[in-house]
Amino acid sequence: MHAVISGAGIAGPVLAYWLCRYGWRVTVVERAADLRAGYGGHAVDLFGPAVDVVERMGLLDRVRENRTRNDTITLFRTGRAPIRLDTAVLATGIADRHVEIMRGTLAGLLHEASRDDVDYRFGTVIERLDGASVQLSDGSTISADLVVGADGLHSGVRGLAFGPEEDYRHFLGAYLAVYTLPDVLQAGPTVAAFNAPGLAVAVYPTQEPGGSRALVLARTSRLISRDPADQREAVRDLVGDALGPRVSAVLAHLDAAEDFYLDDISQIRMDSWSRGRVTLVGDAGYGPGPAVGGGTSLAAAGAYVLAAELNGAGTDGVEAALRRYESALSGPVQHSRRVGPSVLSAIVPRTRAQVWVAAQAMRLLPRLPRPVRSRLTSFGGGPAAMLDGLVLP
Ligand SMILES: Cc1cc2nc3c(=O)[nH]c(=O)nc-3n(C[C@H](O)[C@H](O)[C@H](O)COP(=O)(O)OP(=O)(O)OC[C@H]3O[C@@H](n4cnc5c(N)ncnc54)[C@H](O)[C@@H]3O)c2cc1C
Repeated sequence: MHAVISGAGIAGPVLAYWLCRYGWRVTVVERAADLRAGYGGHAVDLFGPAVDVVERMGLLDRVRENRTRNDTITLFRTGRAPIRLDTAVLATGIADRHVEIMRGTLAGLLHEASRDDVDYRFGTVIERLDGASVQLSDGSTISADLVVGADGLHSGVRGLAFGPEEDYRHFLGAYLAVYTLPDVLQAGPTVAAFNAPGLAVAVYPTQEPGGSRALVLARTSRLISRDPADQREAVRDLVGDALGPRVSAVLAHLDAAEDFYLDDISQIRMDSWSRGRVTLVGDAGYGPGPAVGGGTSLAAAGAYVLAAELNGAGTDGVEAALRRYESALSGPVQHSRRVGPSVLSAIVPRTRAQVWVAAQAMRLLPRLPRPVRSRLTSFGGGPAAMLDGLVLP
């Protein structure tokens, strides 16, 4: 049995690892010229079952060793004293088992665990799809038993097999931007947070000394173009000087940032994400919204479940395995669609009153009894709870 997987992010390598364990031949094509490993990207979360998945791959110790050290969050407010909170207090209601790690570092560890058995082809994409036969940009053709799009929010396989992204993208009314900059805030090992109606900015130190990474979340209904110069201008425009001089100093590094990335916060909503022997996994099929939805956990757990359903399936059994995979994931995926809007409401307040309430909540949380804290920080049964119903095979 031969699988071709598009995308070497999170879901792709997890799926590739397990399919190899189950005796499959696996080719992974990745559009990027090389692995975006190291400390690049942004911080992502593994909750509950997703922690179990990396543990079953023998990677949990290394994941923990490489976790981010953002152990406190400091809310800066113009003209008032900052409020500092242990992130463990905020995580009370999120999950019993939780690790935060940079996406690039996690992708690197997953690739390392699978690379000896998997035929990884970087700088390569699927150009044509005919049933489960693929034509690749490196000139080769593979007649596979299964084709999987693990190629993220803007999935190429989804486009080829299911049609345009617009048909499945559900905009949540906000944009996010991330970029690396020198540690201009000098706030120490903490997530420096700022908010105003419709805006939230977080800046945290990278593991490379002297560096920090900024995450900007802004509510807007306006459409921002795909041109990187326009995008930087749009971020400056949306934030303005609403968040004070510290954030202005952070914005001053926008133009110099080589890794600037902006995207709309949208979910991928599909009634079904398999067709014949083609399927989608992770953000490609059910992205719950970047930065607000716990997509990394859903991607890792989804890939593991898909591999387990395919274990032992011959070519004739692939379509039935894909139906079982969709049915196992349907509860968490439905739940995930409620998470993004509720997390967005919590971290990007809409009004001055909500900004004030958020600050008071941060002040009060550590003093509340654990069960009350747990309820208040669960974001309405948020990113971790969506995986509660999922029993890993
Ligand atoms: C700024 C930001 C902050 C985030 N914060 C969090 C967070 O705090 N917590 C959390 O859990 N999640 C967070 N996420 C979401 C998280 O990164 C994703 O949910 C997760 O990476 C999904 O994994 P995936 O494997 O499905 O897709 P991805 O990790 O996106 O991987 C897809 C891979 O496919 C490749 N690719 C794309 N197109 C093609 C193509 N046509 N052919 C071949 N390869 C292709 C890409 O280069 C990439 O390597 C955040 C996302 C962003 C952008």
